[in-house]
This record gives sequence, structure tokens and C-alpha cells, in this order.
Amino acid sequence: MDKSVIRFNHCDKDIFCFFVPDQCPECGVSFSGKRLEEAPVSIPNPFSNGHKVPCAFLVASTEDNVLRDFDGRSDLHTGITNTNGIVYNYTKAGVQREHQGWERCICVPLVQPDMFSLMSQWDQYLEKFSSAQMWDPLWQSFNEETHNCYSYTLTFINCVLATQSKRALSKDEFTQSFVLPRIKRASKYMMLCREISQNHFYIVDSPRRNSQESPSEDEDSKSN
Ligand SMILES: [Zn+2]
Repeated sequence: MDKSVIRFNHCDKDIFCFFVPDQCPECGVSFSGKRLEEAPVSIPNPFSNGHKVPCAFLVASTEDNVLRDFDGRSDLHTGITNTNGIVYNYTKAGVQREHQGWERCICVPLVQPDMFSLMSQWDQYLEKFSSAQMWDPLWQSFNEETHNCYSYTLTFINCVLATQSKRALSKDEFTQSFVLPRIKRASKYMMLCREISQNHFYIVDSPRRNSQESPSEDEDSKSN
């Protein structure tokens, strides 16, 4: 399980840790009986259990370096959940329907909660799409570059967009706007966990001292 990461500020530093220490690791001042100037902020965990996120696009988390290098055709595995959290994903053996194995994922919900009609047809769409010849290994075989799990998920997303009379997304558009920002956040979160596990703290100069504008760090502004 992931521990949750928090951040507090002292000595003009951002200090990331799993729990607020008794004293500042930078200046040594004791916190006991005192209150920090600003309450510690918890950093949202970018991973969730894909089987509990219906109608979503999933990226299975793997090694950190694989996440960092993701370019839409790497080894990363992607899938789509139905309304019951079964993960449809395309492999060399064809489309798999999995009840487990996607417990730690980056999840991108694809349906707004008020889109009842889309939601009610979702499972049918997904099943029909997955039964199409193009995903039948006897008909067209898996190709690492051009016919892989990512093309399966993106093609499905574009079919759904078409039913909503919306424009299709190119692979680059989808990767740049939906996948990479989340992978970046997940990768940073894993780096924080690793650093804190090893050194108890991860300390950086606080960027907020110089500008009072909104913090640019992505973990502050978004959460799933
Ligand atoms: Zn300090």
C-alpha cells in the first residue's frame, strides 16, 4: 500500500514526509506545543483501484522508469473499465476481461455522472467493440507499434466520442492532454515516496516564497 505523503513549509523549504516530525529537519527547531505557520497539505495519491472506477481509461502502473518514458507505444498497459469494474484490455491473445490485477492504476474517468444514456449503454458498447474482428488475433495480429493496447483503448474512446457527436482525438492529443500530465504526477509521487522511505524527508526550496501567485506545482491544483 502507498503511504500518504504530506508537505509542510519551514525555513523557506517545502518538506515532504509521511508524518510531521517533532522538529524541523532543516533548522532543528522543536514543533512540540507549537503550531506550524501553515497546516500541512496532503499530496493526492495519483493511483487508485481501477476495478472501483467504472467507465474509465486505465494505465497500469509499472516501474517508475517505464512511467517516465511513456510515449504511447511503450510497454505500459492500458485498459477500459465497464460499469462493474471489469477491465477490458487488448493483448497478443486478444481482448481480456479482467476482474483483478488493476488495483493500482492511473484512472481517467470517461463519463460524467450525469451522462445517463451513455452510462446505460456503456457495457454494450464496450462488449460489441471488443468483439469486432479488428481485435480478433486470428484476423489481425497484435503489433507493438501500431495495433496494441493503447490503440485499442483510444479507438474505443473515439467510438464513444463519435456517439456523442464529438471530434476524434489523435493519439498525440490524447497522450499529451490526458495521459502524460497524470503520468508525470504519478512519477513525481513515486519519487517522493522513494526519497521519503530512504531519507525520511524530501526537502526543496519553497517556490512560493518568491511569488505570491498560485503555486504552479500540479499536485496542488488537481486531484482525481
Ligand atoms: Zn525549520
